[in-house]
Amino acid sequence: MTEKISSAKAIELENQFGAHNYKPLPVVLSRGKGARVWDAEGKEYFDFLSAYSAVNQGHCHPDIIKAMSDQIQVLTLTSRAFYNDALGVFEKYMTSTFGFDKVLPMNTGAEGVETALKLCRKWAYMKKGIAENQAKIIVCENNFHGRTITIVSISTDLSARKDFGPYTPGFITIPYNDIDALKEALQEPDVAGFLLEPIQGEAGVYVPDEGYLQQAAELCKAHNVLFIADEIQTGIARTGKMIACEHEDVRPDILILGKALSGGVYPVSAVLADDDIMMCIKPGEHGSTFGGNPVAARVAIAALEVVKKENLAERAETLGKIFRQEMNQLSNECDLISNVRGKGLLNAVVINDSPDSATAWNLCIDMAKAGVLAKPTHGNIIRFAPPLIISETDLREALNRIKTVFKEYKA
Ligand code: PLP
Repeated sequence: MTEKISSAKAIELENQFGAHNYKPLPVVLSRGKGARVWDAEGKEYFDFLSAYSAVNQGHCHPDIIKAMSDQIQVLTLTSRAFYNDALGVFEKYMTSTFGFDKVLPMNTGAEGVETALKLCRKWAYMKKGIAENQAKIIVCENNFHGRTITIVSISTDLSARKDFGPYTPGFITIPYNDIDALKEALQEPDVAGFLLEPIQGEAGVYVPDEGYLQQAAELCKAHNVLFIADEIQTGIARTGKMIACEHEDVRPDILILGKALSGGVYPVSAVLADDDIMMCIKPGEHGSTFGGNPVAARVAIAALEVVKKENLAERAETLGKIFRQEMNQLSNECDLISNVRGKGLLNAVVINDSPDSATAWNLCIDMAKAGVLAKPTHGNIIRFAPPLIISETDLREALNRIKTVFKEYKA
């Protein structure tokens, strides 16, 4: 049994022995169940971050925990040097759930994005006939796709990229939600792909104009350019559909999933594409020791079964409307809020103060005291993304607490 420590001790240990690459709220969590978490002293909170949308199915969902604990008794890791009896079952389940010929399993979101970029480049040389090393991929300003060298090379966020150069070449950056900019970029020679988030999550939950995704996908098709959707945060029912592209009936050429693909129980990511693209990768050209291991395979099937059985997409859609309606009402009564936006249960409240003010951070501290956990992004934006299994009663209770904090807030 591991030793129980106080919140103060846990923070002290992290500060002393861990790299300071995060700035957490001063809350130390030691237990989670459904939409609730408890700190080391037993204080209860509603989780309105869901580990950046990885815990859509709620903390420690019994079906996912059971799948994991059953599998870890039997076989955990084989590497892909051999077949295992769980991976093929998972691959069949994934391809039929999402409607693609093939899936390539990885672990983290960033690895999923890297996989998609490699796949796109390979396809460009093998199928599109682009000359070696000339392929370009279009990306969007204010994107967030992870933290690897190539991914920070395509970031426009200074804190993500500064002092991490030299950067990976072969990308064209355009403004998000700007069809004319995409049209122009597609005129450039040797364009192989367009990578985007259907809603920009980390940037502060930017929902593009209706029709943007569909027009962008059509333009890509017309130019024989792969439309690559990073649905690591928006996928798995978060925005009210299994994947956010479904809101505009768009089927990406390459789909990247992660986070809630495992219900937050285990790192599982996946890239889906049809044979024409996926079969460009040959043995030895890509892989990962842990990718597609039997635990990941069983966990991901269980996590997706929960999404289907518990109608999480419909729940996200309905509960999201309640959330935005109530927060819009609050913004009429309280001048702290300049905007409320989002889709399904991926929402953001923009605080009426500059990004370098402490207002959003202080509001999050006050909300934590009131038993609701959320975190600012980009200084003055607070993202609200509870587990999709949250009951309407709990959502309304959390909303009451949030409203009280905003109304009573003193600078
Ligand atoms: N892509 C998107 C859209 C994300 O939101 C994230 C993480 O927040 C990632 C990629 C990176 O995922 P990971 O942190 O698992 O590498």
